[in-house]
Amino acid sequence: MTSARVAAIPGDGIGTEVMDSAKAVLARLLPLTGDNIAWTDLDWSCERYLTEGALMPDDGLGLLREHDAVLLGAVGWPGVPDHVSLWGLLIPIRRMFQQYVNLRPVRVMEGVPSPLRPDLAEGVDLLIVRENSEGEYSEIGGRFGAGTPVESAFQQSVFTRTGVERIARFAAERAERRRGRIVAATKSNGIIHTMPFWDEVVAETTAHYSVETTFEHIDALAAKLVLHPARYDVVLGSNLFGDILSDLAAGVCGSIGIAPSANVDPTGTYPSMFEPVHGSAPDIAGRGIANPVGMLWSTVMMLEHLGAARAAGLLMEAIAETLRDPATRTADIGGTADTAAVTDAVISHVTRSA
Ligand code: ATP
Ligand code: MG
Repeated sequence: MTSARVAAIPGDGIGTEVMDSAKAVLARLLPLTGDNIAWTDLDWSCERYLTEGALMPDDGLGLLREHDAVLLGAVGWPGVPDHVSLWGLLIPIRRMFQQYVNLRPVRVMEGVPSPLRPDLAEGVDLLIVRENSEGEYSEIGGRFGAGTPVESAFQQSVFTRTGVERIARFAAERAERRRGRIVAATKSNGIIHTMPFWDEVVAETTAHYSVETTFEHIDALAAKLVLHPARYDVVLGSNLFGDILSDLAAGVCGSIGIAPSANVDPTGTYPSMFEPVHGSAPDIAGRGIANPVGMLWSTVMMLEHLGAARAAGLLMEAIAETLRDPATRTADIGGTADTAAVTDAVISHVTRSA
């Protein structure tokens, strides 16, 4: 990357605070590595929804389409139902831009208190690859027989060969650049149509790569991710299983305030979207105390995606340095620093090591 166009959607609550942090860091970092971002600032938020009746304008997706990436803070506010932010913004973006991969790197970072025993937390570094476009989250189904003794509801999962192959290829490519191991979540003993198909297509597809693929049932895998998380490298899950495992793994690592995520179109046809895992956190919004690390780590993922490898590496190292120092940790991870102090610390590590 030398120059990229990025749409910034700070959103609501602490989304705007952590976005300010990311932009302040990039303003100092990118000149050092010869990169440049042209920002488009978008006020798409629940506030906009409450005053104008929509989170984004009618031509919102067309506007985003002209960018190389989207950086998002958090969208959501008390009084605005969750489905408004989901269906009014996040799902249209994911679908229109074919972001069929959801990525969640999980690392136990030095200085971040983890609920795990120290010997178990040692060396945890895994990547959760979640299928983001099909599977269990379909709209096919319905409710029948209301008010009768046979009242029932059905929901149809949809697994396509194309959909499973492309997520398996993505996981295999990532695993080749890491430690070469994929564990795919399954439940083929209980879910007897879609899961055996998932297993078959994942095994066939990943066989073409220099990786070792094994399958573990989702129930056992959930337990083992808590008991021996350091054994895992790439964890591949369907839409539902990947969703659950992502939060489980983030919980194992300590704070939601440090967890990053990406919704990616690996073909590069459309912009990919990068956002911290946390929400708008109304309980601490406006106080300047939000942990910006989840956002900054998401920014690292964006820089990697845009091909700014050196800037990404410098920023990740600066984040790790900042977390190592107790004086530059926020309250959610046991410190007393505010957002601005953490931001300044990251900037000073970045400028010192560049
Ligand atoms: P969602 O918008 O996804 O529904 P939520 O309401 O479930 O999110 P969050 O908004 O992420 O959850 O907040 C959950 C808790 O974690 C809150 O107590 C919040 O203050 C805390 N929290 C979340 N993000 C951060 C952060 N970056 N720094 C400090 N605390 C945070
Ligand atoms: Mg919320």
